[in-house]
Amino acid sequence: MSTESSKLAFDDGWQYAPAPESTDHVSIDDQYGLFIGNEFVEPESGRYFDTINPATEEQLASIADASEADVDRAVRAARKAYSDAWSKLKAAERGKYIFRIARILQERAREFSVIESLDGGKPIRDSRDIDIPLAAAHFFYYAGWADKLAYAFPGRNPVALGVAGQVIPWNFPLLMAAWKIAPALACGNTVVLKPAETTPLTAMKLAEVIRDADLPPGVVNIVTGAGDTGAAIVNHPDIDKIAFTGSTEVGRIIQRAIAGSGKKYTLELGGKAANIIFADAAIDQAVEGIVNGIFFNQGHVCCAGSRLFVQESVADEVIAKLKDRMETLIVGDPLDKNTDIGAINSARQLETIESYLKVGREEGAEMHQSSCDVPDTGYWCRPTIFTGVSQSNRIVQEEIFGPVLAIQTFRTLEEGLDKVNNTPYGLSGGVWTDKGAKIFRMTRKIRAGVVWANTFNKFDPTSPFGGYKESGVGREGGLHGLDAYLKLEA
Ligand code: NAP
Ligand code: MG
Repeated sequence: MSTESSKLAFDDGWQYAPAPESTDHVSIDDQYGLFIGNEFVEPESGRYFDTINPATEEQLASIADASEADVDRAVRAARKAYSDAWSKLKAAERGKYIFRIARILQERAREFSVIESLDGGKPIRDSRDIDIPLAAAHFFYYAGWADKLAYAFPGRNPVALGVAGQVIPWNFPLLMAAWKIAPALACGNTVVLKPAETTPLTAMKLAEVIRDADLPPGVVNIVTGAGDTGAAIVNHPDIDKIAFTGSTEVGRIIQRAIAGSGKKYTLELGGKAANIIFADAAIDQAVEGIVNGIFFNQGHVCCAGSRLFVQESVADEVIAKLKDRMETLIVGDPLDKNTDIGAINSARQLETIESYLKVGREEGAEMHQSSCDVPDTGYWCRPTIFTGVSQSNRIVQEEIFGPVLAIQTFRTLEEGLDKVNNTPYGLSGGVWTDKGAKIFRMTRKIRAGVVWANTFNKFDPTSPFGGYKESGVGREGGLHGLDAYLKLEA
């Protein structure tokens, strides 16, 4: 892995010395089977696929490719575990298992962080400080609810749904698994989960944790594969609930597939979030927030602040400061603790991002990228901003899912608000102003599930998360996240 890439040449000539996280404490098997009934088993077809490190293009492990028959086996294990074991346990006992998962994750946090960065390309700082601690926090939070469901829904009788089928994306692999598994188990359901094809490794490690925590066999089953494996889960007749996080396109396919089946569902889909900076905002703080909002995790964030609206009188200042700040961002080795922007998750995602960079230029926008070097191997994209764009441009309307920001200006609050809401998506947004009254006016009117004020990308297990419009159906996290896994009887 190139360490050159993670050095930063400042104008005055000094550089950060490389500070790579060690990998000595990490063990990755050559091959992983499917996790069914607390054992790793061979896929029926005998087929495996590779998962690679997107920073080096080296193979990390080979992963079982689950067919429809394998998914059926996992669902049968989950059904049996539900009927024979999990639904018979006292709620407080279920909670103890979930606490155990949380504690083991915490103990093994360093190992999980390194594997997350190796398999997915995200900077170790993000895996270490955000993904893994938040995943553990989700298990802790929902473990606490397991025996208190009656208090969460007073006067109603909360009953588990049965078997939950869950399909997740590659941008927060372990965290998305925790978002899905923790509330499902707390509510008394059993689970069949499919991680994304490019980032299965922390899910396989989580399978080890679940086995080591001695959960009754079949309570959590993890089947790996690509879109077909996901579709086999969605279409399985003995699944009671589908929880999906991914693209709006696949979300639509899933909604059609389960229409009329009686399956309960939550869909957490794409986004095209806007940040809006008013002239009275603390500009340096806002610039830092914008940088965090779009360049964090390579822009592989559903709620990434990929559109920016700046009040006209401060636009030149904001753009100049943004450009300066972009020059200091370190792109390179995800395992280096200095790295700000790691590798793009896959060759396919890089292709998508690059095609949008081309579209943006063809639409007449002005593109500016930081001048840093990027390594020769692996998948990389420099932080990029577009100015001179208009509302109808594709780079303003469509989700790019990379470190690419489209900047526009506005004059009045009403104009800014109209522009922010002119999108088919509605997952998140950010308001930057010194005036509390403006914060309240804007946050009430921005049509998005989460709106941050003078900050961005802050997550907490107690807070519900989800979209308006094409960003999804239902909420995850907090009390709302329990509702999604229960029948509430009168
Ligand atoms: P994706 O292509 O929709 O894939 C998501 C998952 O669905 C993957 O596991 C995928 O398998 C699987 N899948 C693909 N086709 C399927 C089908 N026909 N039926 C069932 N499952 C299928 O999305 P992605 O590119 O991995 O992730 C990026 C997207 O996720 C972005 O749009 C982002 O905004 C969204 N996202 C939303 C949230 C949120 O909370 N709203 C959070 C994170 C990400 P493969 O592994 O083979 O692709
Ligand atoms: Mg990988």
